[in-house]
This record gives sequence, structure tokens and C-alpha cells, in this order.
Amino acid sequence: MKEVAKQLSDFEGKRLLITGGASGIGLATVNHFLSKGAKVAVFDINQEGLTKLENQYQQDLLTMEGDVRRANEIARALDIMVEEWDGIDILVYSAGIFPDMRIIDMEEEEWDRVLDINLKGAFLTCRNVAQRMIAQRSGGHIVTISSGSYQSARIGSGHYCASKAGLVMLTKVLAFELADYGIQVNSIAPGLVESELLDPSYVQTFSKRIPLGRPAKPTEVSGAIEMITSSLNTYMTGQIIPIDGGLSSGHYGLP
Ligand code: NAD
Repeated sequence: MKEVAKQLSDFEGKRLLITGGASGIGLATVNHFLSKGAKVAVFDINQEGLTKLENQYQQDLLTMEGDVRRANEIARALDIMVEEWDGIDILVYSAGIFPDMRIIDMEEEEWDRVLDINLKGAFLTCRNVAQRMIAQRSGGHIVTISSGSYQSARIGSGHYCASKAGLVMLTKVLAFELADYGIQVNSIAPGLVESELLDPSYVQTFSKRIPLGRPAKPTEVSGAIEMITSSLNTYMTGQIIPIDGGLSSGHYGLP
């Protein structure tokens, strides 16, 4: 038993990059892994959130303001990380947006904005991280934060659902392509999580359909990220793990 507990907290000195780490699930993941002795680099467009983190932590933290849509900014962040810490062990891609708009009302620019941040940014980040992990020859973990929306339609979420379905397939194909290098790639698909992303009245209505009867706390998602990136997970890759209070197990989402 003691051995299991030790393995689960085996993150001392591990080097993480977390995109979208200035808020919500990403922020909970930053706090979670720093508390386990890891070194965490946070890449986010939200400078205010990054400054708060800088004020909170004096060591083992790198903050980098940048946009996941820009390959050169991602490359720069990784250059800094490698220069400071000599490599990367874990990527968590949590950057994302969730605007509400029906497809028939949607301008092309809005479609592109959501697909670019939620999906293309993941491609750009995973590609760069994977290249560096391959060069390091020490394996690694890549975790994308998708959503139950990858398999469940919702009015007003055409671009979001499409981006998350794409992210799931990006995750699975990457798992195949990186398996030979000992790099495991999985996705967490949250249902409803308390965060800045969602309107409180939407959370209240939606919660009634969740078997556990409430949204997840961001720390419940970061706990799942710990489980799949710990040294206990040596054989799971290419999987989409629902952290949704049972929502996706029901018949059409109904309890
Ligand atoms: P959040 O808004 O609290 O955090 C998202 C972070 O991404 C923010 O810090 C934001 O600044 C950053 N970001 C946005 N655009 C960016 C860009 N272009 N470049 C760099 N950073 C950028 O939201 P959250 O709830 O923590 O969501 C995290 C992920 O989880 C998202 O991908 C979201 O789709 C997914 N998710 C959330 C829920 C939920 O209920 N909150 C449910 C399912 C999936």
C-alpha cells in the first residue's frame, strides 16, 4: 500500500508544460504538480493570471505569455524550458475556449478562432513537444483536455464539438505514432467543471443531469491527470478518459 502511495507522488523533479495553466483546470494542474515537487512551465495568453502565479510561487515555476495559435511562440517557450530545465517530461494541453453560437449565425472567423485554439494549437504544441521528447529518448506523457462534447452534440457548440472531436482523433493518432518512443498520449474528457469558462446558470441546469449531481472541481480533473501520468501507468495510451460524474455512462446522458 505504501509503495502505491509513493509511486503516485513520484513527480519530484518532473518537468511539465501546461498550456492554459493560468485558469481553471490548467491552473489546478499547475498547483497540483507543484505540490508534488514537479517543475512547471505555464504557457497562457492571460498575463494577469500568469502574474498571480508568479507572485504565489518563487521556485520551480516558469511563466510564458503566448498564444497557442502561434508556432513560433510555442517553440520559444519550449526553448526556454529546455534551456532552464534541460527537457520536458509531461505536456498537458488545457488551453481552450467555449463560445456559444449556432452554426447558422456563425461567421467564418468565429469557426476558425475556436478550431485554431482548441485543435490547431494542440497540433502545434504536441508536434513540438513530441519532437523534443523523441530527441531526449526518455519517453514522456502527453495529455490533452478534450471534453464529453467530442461525442455529444449541443446546440450552440458546433465549432466547439467539432474541435474536441478533432482533438480526440489527434490524441489517438499521436498515441500510435509515438508508441515506439515510449511516449504515452491520452485525453481527459471532462463533463462539467467549475471554471471561468461556464455561465453559472448553465452549470445549475446541467448539474441535474449528472449522476453525481454536481460539476467537478478543477482539482478532480488534475487528480485524474496525476493518475495517468504517474509511474503506475505504463500501459495505457490512446485512451479518452471521461471525468464527468457518470454523465457519459447514462442513456443519452440521462441517469
Ligand atoms: P478556463 O477558461 O478557466 O481556462 C482556459 C485557459 O486557456 C485560460 O487560462 C485561457 O487564458 C487559456 N487560453 C485561451 N486561449 C488561449 C490561447 N490562444 N493561447 C494560450 N492560452 C489560451 O477554462 P477551463 O474550464 O479550465 O478549460 C480548460 C479545458 O478544459 C478547455 O480545453 C475546455 O474546453 C476543457 N473543458 C472544460 C470543461 C468545463 O466544464 N470547464 C468541460 C469540458 C472540457
